[in-house]
Amino acid sequence: TFKENTDIPVYHPDVTAYEVFDKDGTFLAVLYTDFHPRKGKQSGAWMTSYKDQWIDEEGINHRPHVSVTMNLTKPTESKPALLTLGEVETFLHEFGHALHGIFANTRFESLSGTSVYWDFVELPSQIMENFAVERDFLNTFAQHYQTGEPLPEELIDRIIKSRNFNAAYACIRQVSFGLLDMAYYTQDKPFEEDVLSFEKRAWEAAQLLPQPEETCMSVQFGHIMSGGYAAGYYSYKWAEVLDADAFSLFKEKGIFDREVAQSFRDNILSKGGTEPPMTLYKRFRGQAPTIDALLKRNGIKPINKA
Ligand SMILES: [Zn+2]
Repeated sequence: TFKENTDIPVYHPDVTAYEVFDKDGTFLAVLYTDFHPRKGKQSGAWMTSYKDQWIDEEGINHRPHVSVTMNLTKPTESKPALLTLGEVETFLHEFGHALHGIFANTRFESLSGTSVYWDFVELPSQIMENFAVERDFLNTFAQHYQTGEPLPEELIDRIIKSRNFNAAYACIRQVSFGLLDMAYYTQDKPFEEDVLSFEKRAWEAAQLLPQPEETCMSVQFGHIMSGGYAAGYYSYKWAEVLDADAFSLFKEKGIFDREVAQSFRDNILSKGGTEPPMTLYKRFRGQAPTIDALLKRNGIKPINKA
């Protein structure tokens, strides 16, 4: 339960502070939301924490202070803030990170909440994005702002179809970037080769179309050289495998299934980095992830309708 608390000081009038309570009424966290753009505010969207969770020597559980920042279109006098699908997905994404923080329940602050291995941190966020095109979820709020009509099913189908356009090619492209990144960061000798031929060899296994001559990805691949992704670029695709596979359990049991949600909270969200990601994942899912759910979501593999 999210309860606004106006007694909590905020850094700007646009910011709202909520106290978050568990189902038995236990206090879980403070959540700050800062949704709209203003002069001097950084663009984009992110989750952060002002204070992480930890349990001290007396057993006192210090609860976290979490924040979600967005730059959503502001409502006007005549119109509410009409969010695009992308904005809804971004919100769900950051809210997923926030839940990772809010449900944290570990002894050490350094292993709490989102303090997990790089290739595991986007599972809680990306799994939430799946809800954005689920009819039962959309029906809880996505109505025409004048007529109150729910979003027509046909539109939802069209959204899904259009986002899967060229999905297989986009997948191969991501894989090729991952291969290239990994090839650079698994060098054990000083690099003396020419960059262009190294690149060609590194991602050969995922090249579908002929590469235009004299184009070179390596020299503009900021993510892996200065963006912090060194040897971790594959995590984009890997997180998709995880989130699709994890969400398929919700699809199977129902997207609002309490048991699955509780298991996700107990086995993944509350555990932070206290155990290896695969151990946590298998405890939730009952098995290691496969690529099947992602292929189905992307429309590459047909969905068997039982
Ligand atoms: Zn994220």
